[in-house]
Amino acid sequence: MHPKQNHIKMRQLTDMRSAATLATSDPPAGPRLRVGKLCVAIQAASPAEMMERAEAAIQSVKFLEFRLDSLPKPAAILPRLKEFLAEHRDVAAIATCRRKPNGGNFDGPLATEIEILTKAALAGCQIIDLEVESAEEARPAQLSHFHTRLWEAGTALLISFHDFTRTRSLDQAADRIAAFKPDFVKVVSTARSLADNLAVLRLIENRSASSNIVGIAMGEEGIVSRVLGPRTGGAFTFASFSDGSETAPGQVTAQTLRDLYRVEQLDQATRVFGVAGNPIAHSLSPLMQNTAFRRESVNAVLLPLRVRALEDLLTLVRELPLAGAAVTMPLKQEVLPFLANMDPLTARIGACNTLRTGADGKLYGFNTDVAGVIRPLEKRLRLKGARIAVLGAGGAARAAVFGLVEQGAEVFIINRTHENAVTLARQAKAKSLKHEVFAKQHFDVLINTTPCGMKGTRQTMPIAENELNAGLVFDMVYNPLETPLLKLARSRGIPVISGLEMFVQQGARQFEIWTGKPAPEAEMLRVVEHELRKRG
Ligand code: NAP
Repeated sequence: MHPKQNHIKMRQLTDMRSAATLATSDPPAGPRLRVGKLCVAIQAASPAEMMERAEAAIQSVKFLEFRLDSLPKPAAILPRLKEFLAEHRDVAAIATCRRKPNGGNFDGPLATEIEILTKAALAGCQIIDLEVESAEEARPAQLSHFHTRLWEAGTALLISFHDFTRTRSLDQAADRIAAFKPDFVKVVSTARSLADNLAVLRLIENRSASSNIVGIAMGEEGIVSRVLGPRTGGAFTFASFSDGSETAPGQVTAQTLRDLYRVEQLDQATRVFGVAGNPIAHSLSPLMQNTAFRRESVNAVLLPLRVRALEDLLTLVRELPLAGAAVTMPLKQEVLPFLANMDPLTARIGACNTLRTGADGKLYGFNTDVAGVIRPLEKRLRLKGARIAVLGAGGAARAAVFGLVEQGAEVFIINRTHENAVTLARQAKAKSLKHEVFAKQHFDVLINTTPCGMKGTRQTMPIAENELNAGLVFDMVYNPLETPLLKLARSRGIPVISGLEMFVQQGARQFEIWTGKPAPEAEMLRVVEHELRKRG
């Protein structure tokens, strides 16, 4: 499917501040410039690599930014760029040759930057990016001559501002740029919090009627602005060519923006959800939930939200607004005082992993971790009266223990720090067992809720091999898919439940709470399993 195109009538360059020095006769109307909502930024170590990447990128996205400043000799690529653009007339290109003091890699003088950019326009690039510092430093005659050459080439001028440390005074930055009356205004800041996205989106909203504006907050927290900028009225957003070739911090790949976040389809009616935590970059929830939204034709998107403090998430909930969120530790507990209501089990457990914003704007809390534990088990055995050993007494164990006790199971908690097992057992009306006592008994189910066996942890098994004493083994760890505990159980012919099944079940209930539709569980499981196998 072709990306939805923005049709932008290029402003006649005689409008610009330097118009006085341009030709006095009326210029013909500028050419129509067609750009998509997604621009792939390409940097490379050599001209050959840059052209290779460009050829690969245009298989899916026809709008590229050539970061000429990433090349040792930016001018050397121009003949090849000209050939490429002549050959691919459906491709729109931005040329950028940002100087080092302004955050780029080009260490030549302003005059050379302007010369290279002028040549890039003559080579067929439809948009030229000049940083506002360069525009301000240029002599009026120099800038005016540059404008004229761009106009003659039918090229649009984009003037950009970058703040690599924070998000502040965005209106001032946009005003500095607007003074030059360019065709595009680009304001890029760095997000230090989720709330910084709101400042960027407000800038876009306020200015998009009067100018072609691009607003982005860099950094991991800035994902909200990258994805939602275009639907807020932004002319386009930037993506990287591939993982590892980002031209700015926090940039995500074109494939992710397009296929996972469906940036070209988002509109005012799109409901925005998040998965909140820290760290959150490797969460599988965006893949799982966005796949489910797409599959069920739900107009919604879920974004990974790096939350350093709960207040930041609550600001986003109120002001974006967010329709709901999946929350991880320690937010599961911290959020409780801010809920208008929660289901009784969530209140008893004292942890909420799912938020939904009601029509009244208030927050409602749920705990789907419980269903994530119960559903896989009740498919396999009768829980009432079952003897279940739970290894661990942390957050995940809490959901399991409260949920299982409610189902009538006899639950035994075994934990490294025995006092924690005793405390949880007392709260949930379960029993605690010392490890040596546990090792001598038999259970219907053994559930591992410790991180033992998780990729990267030193301790691979929560118990000794000769202590495996259950009819069914459930490991909450799902990375790797086949943990040492599950491998051992299988080798003894003991049936197993993987943590992935729990992850998908808790996610499926979240989907239902948010959308009111049955979750496409098989599809959710398929994509997450595929991704985990890919990650290895
Ligand atoms: P948590 O609150 O930190 O609790 C960890 C528990 O494991 C504590 O009881 C701790 O004992 C114990 N523990 C930690 N390291 C240990 C070790 N080396 N040996 C023995 N016991 C150890 O963590 P959590 O949030 O409950 O998460 C635990 C695991 O469950 C994680 O691997 C997480 O990925 C997984 N999980 C999976 C799902 C899913 O959907 N599949 C959902 C939630 C969690 P102490 O009391 O002595 O510290």
